[in-house]
Amino acid sequence: MISSGFLHKMAVYQDKPVKYYLNTEEDLFFLNELMGRKFKITYLGDIKCFCGKLVNNVFRMNFCYNCYYTLPEASEAILKPELSKAHLGIEERDLESEKAYQLQPHTVYLAISGGLKVGVTRTSQQITRWIDQGAIKALPILHTSNRYEAGVWEVELKKIFSDKTAWREMLRWNDPDVDLLAEKNKILETFRDRQNEFLDHSELFTFEYPSLEKPDKITTINIETKKSVEGILTGIRGQYLILDNNKVFNIRTYEGRHVEIEIT
Ligand SMILES: [Zn+2]
Repeated sequence: MISSGFLHKMAVYQDKPVKYYLNTEEDLFFLNELMGRKFKITYLGDIKCFCGKLVNNVFRMNFCYNCYYTLPEASEAILKPELSKAHLGIEERDLESEKAYQLQPHTVYLAISGGLKVGVTRTSQQITRWIDQGAIKALPILHTSNRYEAGVWEVELKKIFSDKTAWREMLRWNDPDVDLLAEKNKILETFRDRQNEFLDHSELFTFEYPSLEKPDKITTINIETKKSVEGILTGIRGQYLILDNNKVFNIRTYEGRHVEIEIT
């Protein structure tokens, strides 16, 4: 089958293994059923920004220049939660949407996604966030009432843990065997005078990803320079498609790209 359309971040559904759906605006592919099939994804040369405008290239975070400098979705506080200001009533770009985004429950968590990491997410989005990072385990350790407080905690915990996904290890299923509850207990020791802020009981979440074979090394494919990527779909983890011969393709990097997808 052949379909053309615009790439979007894959929709995910927590199951054993996680279910993945690729939406091109024209078609919706249930990828778990297409494992072992041959994919060819060809870049057709234009990009649709989140604002709907077709552009030849995007500026940063897949936004066009104008969106990057004006939209609340592209503000610095998105990447650095500790810079959030809506809890003070201070507008950065659009106070109403910043309030809606920032003044809601957030989770500070530990996760294993190729390595041990700390992170912050909106509580309503936490499952999706962990799957997008390819986590095999996640443990919420704190709930806060807004994004700023979670961000300040993350800054503290980044002194102890990485806040980055070790994606090369993640894609090789080379996850360290770490007891997250024991790590949480170490944090409680460190922050003895603030123990009451932590969750009494943390629920451990675990995730499995579709995989026929695990790559032993990682070759990332850039469809903007190579124009296309081709191979048998052998795994999906995070927002990556894993193809045979150790090729990996990050759907998120190419969000908005107009592509043709051929599946045989
Ligand atoms: Zn735009």
